[in-house]
Order: sequence, then structure tokens, then C-alpha cells
Amino acid sequence: MKQILLLFLILLMSSTVFAQTAELKQIIDERADEIEQEVIDWRRHFHENPELSNREFETAEYIAEYLRGLGLDVETGVAKTGVVALLEGGNPGPVVGLRADMDGLPVTERTDVPFASTATGMYQGKEVGVMHACGHDTHMAILMGVAKILTEMKDDLSGTVKFIFQPAEEGAPEGEEGGGELMVKEGVLENPDVDVIFGLHISDYLPVGTISYRPEGIMASSNTFKIEVKGKQAHGSTPWFGVDPIVTAAQIINNTQTIVSRSMPLTEQAAVVTFGVIEGGVRHNIIPESVSMQGTIRALDEDMRQTIFERLETIVQNTAESNGAEATLTINDGYLITYNDPELTAMMEPTLKEVAGEDNANIINAITGAEDFSFFQREIPGLYFFIGGKAPGREPAGHHTPDFYIDESGMKLGVRAMANLVIDYMDREGDIDGNSTGM
Ligand SMILES: [Zn+2]
Ligand SMILES: [Zn+2]
Repeated sequence: MKQILLLFLILLMSSTVFAQTAELKQIIDERADEIEQEVIDWRRHFHENPELSNREFETAEYIAEYLRGLGLDVETGVAKTGVVALLEGGNPGPVVGLRADMDGLPVTERTDVPFASTATGMYQGKEVGVMHACGHDTHMAILMGVAKILTEMKDDLSGTVKFIFQPAEEGAPEGEEGGGELMVKEGVLENPDVDVIFGLHISDYLPVGTISYRPEGIMASSNTFKIEVKGKQAHGSTPWFGVDPIVTAAQIINNTQTIVSRSMPLTEQAAVVTFGVIEGGVRHNIIPESVSMQGTIRALDEDMRQTIFERLETIVQNTAESNGAEATLTINDGYLITYNDPELTAMMEPTLKEVAGEDNANIINAITGAEDFSFFQREIPGLYFFIGGKAPGREPAGHHTPDFYIDESGMKLGVRAMANLVIDYMDREGDIDGNSTGM
């Protein structure tokens, strides 16, 4: 009898939790509708006033002021211009991080929207036009909308939400630290410790109303490399008196073509090695002393990434040696693989399908672009996904271009997705905890 009573109690408790979650989710949908115009207005404000990486001063002030107005505990100046706000729910539970990036790009806007940017800024010592040409303006507006809705239901939340507005996703100016990496270094995932983190990116080529995601590597790691080949200068008519760095460089480029084609398990994941710069020589009949090259490495799997590093080093050294030349390879720290924790992705997949509709939330192929959300995911499980921002019938101009255009009606799904992920994670995580202690 006692056992039956206990079972009944548990059922009763879990059904109240469920009812509450369902209720909250319904409120989210209603509120997302009601505040849609407000979210669009915030986005337009950001769009009209873009700032470059690590220079998001006014952007940060605007966000911080808004979040303080909601009554949240707000911290500014995190990783230079980042803003972090904490929302403690009425019930105990996990800490969920939500991240939006804040920076614009050195691009001069060419669209004809009434809120087009005419802003300028300094980039690498030059005055440039500045534009939200990647859609980070929509990410900030979406997260402000989520903050508003979740704050309104604060008492019913079973856990804590950390809103993370991150500067410099596109990369800090040369010589400066910044972005997700610096935020982590400054302890953004601590105090309180964040259990999981969600992030999204709007896309100008995915249709409005859709969500795209993928377990494991969804975006590639990105590492720049530099190769210096040193030979011995000689007259072009007498190469035997010198060591030819041009021939050596050519062989290095050729030999590296086998890294991906012969050493990568290509049915598992993709990888890329690209040379983008080759510099050497000044005159047709002088064999120069040195040649320098630059390129980029992309990988979707950490083991593959490490193998590429090793193979590249071996090829550079041995090819140089076989030519009597010397070579140095420098691989710079770049972005890590944007790696969606498989368990978390599986756990939250039903939420993505529910908010977008079964057919509108789909697994996509991985992308060889990179994202610095990866620095959060190195520390804790994270899920990164895309939402559609492509207007029907409009050809996408492409991110980072002067004609970049986003259909603002796509943002509402972002608000609903993020808020629902929080509610559902708190609910499901509660279930998991309950089960594990029960057994
Ligand atoms: Zn970008
Ligand atoms: Zn971006």
C-alpha cells in the first residue's frame, strides 16, 4: 500500500511538473507573438548602430540598460564589452547559458532598408563602413526577447538562466584578446557554474521558419598557418649555386594535397587544407632567398585536426630537407570545432522539432566555416543551431556582404526556440536527476 501511495505521489508530482511546463510553453508562444515587433525594433536599433569587434561599447550599454530594467543582476565589461545577466528562477534546478554575439563587420552596407547602417569605424588603421553583415543584431534582439519572456515567468522557472552577450565573435583586432575564449577565461561559465549552453545563428540562405542542427561537429575548427621556406639566393641561370625555395614551396603545396585525400577518414568527417597566400621573388632571373606561404586548416573532428597538424609538419620539414632548404611551420590558435554534445542534442531534438514543426527542423551537413561558440563547448555541453532568415523569393546575398539581408519574421522562431530549450531542459534535466537518485 505504501508503495502504491508513493507511486501515486510521484505520478502526481511529475504530472504537475508536466502541466506547468506545458503551460509555460504556451505562454512563451503567446508572448513571442506579442513582443515580436519589439524584438524587430531592437534589431533595427542594433542594425543602424553597428560596432566592430571589441568596440561594442554602445551596444553593450543598450543591452545592459534593458536587462537592468527587467530587474536582472547584470555584469558589464566581461571580456571587454560583454554583458552577462543572471535570472534566478523560483525553484532550484540547473544553470542554463544562452549566448548571443554582438559584433558587426567592416562592411559598407548597400541595402535599401530604412534602417541601413551609415556607421563607420577604424579597422586595421583604416576608416571603414561598419555593418551587421552577419546577423548578430538579430541574435542580440532575440536574446533580449527571451530574457523578457523568461523574466516574466521567473517564479515558475526550475533553475537559473545566464544570458551571455558576447563581443568579438568575428575575431578580436590584431594583438587583442576577445570573444568566447576570453569570456571563458574570465570565468563566465562559473559562479554559478553553467551546466549547458545554447546558441544560435540566423542564416540568409535557410528559409524563415526552419531550424537546422547537427549532433557532433556542426562547424569546423579553423587554424591559420604560415610556412617560411628558406633557400639560398642565386642567379636564375645558375640554380646549382643556390637552393631554390620556389621549387621547394611548390613541392610542399603539392605534397600537402595528400593530407586530406590520403590521410583523412573521409566517410566520417570532412577536412580542408587551403593555401591562400604565396609570396616570393622579385625578378624573373633571380632565385630568391625565401618564400612565404599562408593557408587555413578546417576540420570537423578533433583527431583529424591533430593528424593534419602532424602531417603538415612532417611534409614541410621533409620536403624542405630533401631540397636542401629549411622551413618553419607556424600554426596559429584559431577556433575550435563547434561540437554539439550528442547527448544534449538528442535530449533537445524534440524541442527543436516541436517549435519549428516536425518537417521544419532538420539535421544538416556540417559547415566548414567556424564559430567561436566552440570555446564554450570545450568547457561544457552545448548545442548550436541555425534558424532561417531567408525571405521567400529573395536570392541570398551571403553573410559578410554589403547586400546581406535578413527577413525579420524569422526572429520569432529564435525567441521561441531559445525560451523553449530552457524550459524543456530544466524539465528533462529534473527528470533525469529524479530517475538517477531513485535507482
Ligand atoms: Zn560572421
Ligand atoms: Zn556570425
